[in-house]
Amino acid sequence: MKSKYIAEPFRIKMVEPIKTLSFEERLKKIEEAHYNLFYLDSEDVYIDLLSDSGTGAMSTEQWAGMMKGDEAYSGSVNYKHLVKTAQEIFGYKYIQPVHQGRAAEKVVMPIFLKPGKYAIANMHFDTTRAHVEIAGARAIDCVVPEALDTKTYSPFKGNMDTKRLVKLIEEYGAENIGLIIMTITNNSAGGQPVSMENMRETSEIAKKYNIPLLIDAARFAENAYFIKTREKGYENKSIREIVLEMFSYAQLFTMSSKKDAIVNIGGLIGIKDDEELYEKVKSNTIPYEGFISYGGLAGRDLEALAIGLKEGIDFNYLRYRIGQMEYLASRLDEAGIPYQYPVGGHAIFIDAKRLLPHIPYYEFPGQALAVELYKEAGIRGCDVGSYMLGNDPDTGKQLQAEFEFTRLAVPRRVYTQAHLDVIADALIAIKERADSIKGYKITWEPKILRHFTAKLKPIE
Ligand SMILES: *Cc1c(COP(=O)(O)O)cnc(C)c1O
Repeated sequence: MKSKYIAEPFRIKMVEPIKTLSFEERLKKIEEAHYNLFYLDSEDVYIDLLSDSGTGAMSTEQWAGMMKGDEAYSGSVNYKHLVKTAQEIFGYKYIQPVHQGRAAEKVVMPIFLKPGKYAIANMHFDTTRAHVEIAGARAIDCVVPEALDTKTYSPFKGNMDTKRLVKLIEEYGAENIGLIIMTITNNSAGGQPVSMENMRETSEIAKKYNIPLLIDAARFAENAYFIKTREKGYENKSIREIVLEMFSYAQLFTMSSKKDAIVNIGGLIGIKDDEELYEKVKSNTIPYEGFISYGGLAGRDLEALAIGLKEGIDFNYLRYRIGQMEYLASRLDEAGIPYQYPVGGHAIFIDAKRLLPHIPYYEFPGQALAVELYKEAGIRGCDVGSYMLGNDPDTGKQLQAEFEFTRLAVPRRVYTQAHLDVIADALIAIKERADSIKGYKITWEPKILRHFTAKLKPIE
C-alpha cells in the first residue's frame, strides 16, 4: 500500500540552490572521481544522501540562538541552557558537551575498557568499535538474528539478542565485560529500532551481572517514535515520556548530536547520577575537548544544540521525518525494488545483490548501483557491502559481505517529496536496464578504510 506523504510541519524561509548537471557532465564527473562517490565535489551532486550526520537544516529558532552565543571561556549562558535542557529530556544529573559523537567515545571508553576487557553491543557503530579497540578492549556484536533477514517484517530488528548476551557474559566472565552498549536506533543494522521491552531486559541482565549499560544515543528520538508507533502499551505515551523511560534503564550515554538533535556539529555525554564517573569524564574532557563548559564547541553551537534537542523530539516533526522514509519505501514497494525491510529511521538500504544479481560480490554490486544513481539523477549514496568491507588482512583476498547494500541516508528537514520522487524514479529507471549494468574493479586502494579513497573502473 502506498504511504501518504506527511506534509512538512514547517515552511521554507531560506533556500540553498542546487545544481543539475547534464547526463554527459555527470558521466565526466564520476569518471574524474574514479567512480568513487567520496571524490565528488558536493556542488556536483543534486541530491546528497551520503550521510544524515550533520547534514540537517536548522530552524529559525536555532539560527536565532546562534546569535545569542556567549563565547566566554567558562560558564557560558548557553552551556547552562544546554545542561538544563538535556537534564530535563534524559533525566540525567550530569551532562557534558563534546564536539561530536566519537569525541564522547574517546572520553568515555578508556574509563571502562582496557586490554583483556570486552564491550558487548546490539551493534557497534564503526567509530564506537574503533574507540573500544583503541582502549585495548574487544567489541562483540550481539544483535537479534532477524536483523540479518532483509525480507521479513519485524518491528524491532535492532534489538539485543538477550539470550546470547547472557551466554557471552558467562563465557567471557562478567568481570571482563567493561560495558554493555545499546545503540538506538541500531545504525549498522539499517537504522532499525530497539524496543522498550528489550531495553528493560538488557538492563536487568546488566544489573544482575553488575555491568554498566551505556546508550549510544545518536538516534534516540527516532527510536522513541518507533516505540510509540509499534510497541504495545506506548501508543498513548508522549515522546518525552518514552525518552525518559528508555534512558532510565542505562547509567550513561554518549551521543552524536549531528543526527537527532539536528545540529551540524556537536555531541553529548550524559551520566545518570554517578558523581565519581562524572569527575573522570571531566578529567578526560579537559585535555581532549577543552574546558567542561564548552567541550570543543562554540557557545553558539551549544545554544543550537539545546534548541535542536527539543525540536528533535517533537511528535509532528518525527511523524513527518519517519513518514518521508515510509513514503520512499512505499514507492519502491510498488516498483518491486528490494531494500532492508522495514525501512529504518534515517536511511534506506537498497538490496543491490537482488537488484543486480549478475554482478558478483567481488565486482561490488552496491558500489555499481551507487555509481548508477549518480549517473542517472545526480544522487549520491554509498556502498555498504563487499566494497566497503575490503580485504582479509592476512591473505589479502577480497572478503564477501553478508549484504550488498547501497545506502541512501536522508538528511533531516532538507529534501521535499519531489526529491524523494526523483530518487524513486531513478531507481525504477535503473531497474529497467539492470541487466546492462557492469561491475567494477579497483585500480588503486589504501590498506585500511579503502572505500573513502580507493579508485575504481568499470569492467568492460
Ligand atoms: C554517527 C554515530 C556515531 C559517531 O558520531 P560522530 O558525530 O560522527 O562522531 C556514533 N554512534 C552512532 C550510532 C552514530 O550513528
